[in-house]
Amino acid sequence: MHHQSLSELSSHLQQRSFSSEELTHYFLRRINQYDAQLNSFITVTPETALAQARAADKCLQTGTAGPLTGIPIAHKDIFCTNGIKTSCGSKMLDHFVAPYNATVVEKCQAAGLVMLGKTNMDEFAMGSSNESSFYGPVINPWDSKAVPGGSSGGSAAAVAARLTPVATGTDTGGSIRQPAALCNLTGLKPTYGLVSRYGMIAFASSLDQGGPLAKSAQDVALLLNAMAGFDPRDSTSLNRPGEDYTAQLNNSLVGLNVGLPKEFFSDGLDPEVGKLLQNAISELESAGAILHDIELPHTALAVPVYYIIAPAECSSNLSRFDGVRFGYRCHEPKDLMDLFKRSRGEGFGAEVKRRIMIGTYALSAGYYDAYYLKAQQIRRLLTQDFKNAFQQVDVILGPTSPTPAFNLGERVDDPLKMYLSDIYTLSVNLAGLPGLSLPAGFVGTRPCGMQLIGNYFSEARLLNIAHQYQLRTDWHRASPKQFVD
Ligand code: GLN
Repeated sequence: MHHQSLSELSSHLQQRSFSSEELTHYFLRRINQYDAQLNSFITVTPETALAQARAADKCLQTGTAGPLTGIPIAHKDIFCTNGIKTSCGSKMLDHFVAPYNATVVEKCQAAGLVMLGKTNMDEFAMGSSNESSFYGPVINPWDSKAVPGGSSGGSAAAVAARLTPVATGTDTGGSIRQPAALCNLTGLKPTYGLVSRYGMIAFASSLDQGGPLAKSAQDVALLLNAMAGFDPRDSTSLNRPGEDYTAQLNNSLVGLNVGLPKEFFSDGLDPEVGKLLQNAISELESAGAILHDIELPHTALAVPVYYIIAPAECSSNLSRFDGVRFGYRCHEPKDLMDLFKRSRGEGFGAEVKRRIMIGTYALSAGYYDAYYLKAQQIRRLLTQDFKNAFQQVDVILGPTSPTPAFNLGERVDDPLKMYLSDIYTLSVNLAGLPGLSLPAGFVGTRPCGMQLIGNYFSEARLLNIAHQYQLRTDWHRASPKQFVD
């Protein structure tokens, strides 16, 4: 059952080959059996899951079921879940039980999806390896020495080990696409504003976007149908007509103009990853795509710009965790200042503190113009690079990550090296564009991803390209032997 696509699971549920309750039990058993080795879940919610599964079975019996009714899902622990612990991977929120559901959770529930639990993540979504979680690192199911990527590493490891058919993630600078690449999954960061941020704990509000992590482009399209849509409770949510993201999956790629940015295929790219990408490019060419060499001249500035803007926004967003209203509070504070200092000092981990300090510095009176304002100006130039590119091509293709998964512990003491993991993903968030990562092969035991970047609202087209590629290749079908028979 764990190999089946969402549409296969759905048709079995509709035909009553098995019930949602049976399917849910099946995945809960797999979590029980394997998650001790992976640490991909922070909280497993069997009671909620089984109650939702029974409700789904009623809909299936009465003919009121939709295409996702009765299918299990796991949510990144950044999405608020009513009555269920929502930790954001932090000691700060270790005891926080959300009093309401995030819109994404609400929409998935309305679509009939069954929540198995909440997945592990880098603390407050800051990281590229899932090693900054208060709950310990997540292990890559493909190689127990490797990181799964981050910050949605728990969701990625859980889908890769087939502990859940599908999961949600969030992507501020690559956190859906990079773990998707490192765990052999398909993951989509939608256009900014397409998926509601209401109830999604804020890291950097102008960059954060929720999206699906799944085994294939087709599954991503089905989950995006449930997740996307206008939300009056999110002031940056886009009010536009709904779309069926599966509608274009079978379109032909003949005449598709694919741009290959020279900055994405330069020295920083691992040559083995480069070879896999060349194979993928040839495959698309044989499907009728036309290749173009393009330039994204400001690419090298994406890392420094992101690491001003994201910390600046996080220093503001995380100021609400002060030990007063909710979250961790230190024991026996001497006075109010001691309460603030120790609650924040003890509640946040090292990476979060580093970001708050960088952000506070960049926003401070004497440095605002030199750092924050300058970063915003360069952000505009990076966006302009993409605008120019999309006048020539329909889609941009490149690597998701410069290397395959690195070893656990390898980059924890070298933040700059860690930050470079996202060199190809960050600019997509800075421009607010959609980006998709999909499996493109292996270096040894470790998977690699290719990234497709599209113009605003081109999700259906990106999924079409990925689906056509997946009809021609088998990379996305591969699963880690140790967890999957
Ligand atoms: N790895 C990047 C960071 O550490 C991106 C994280 C994300 O997308 N949430 O900020």
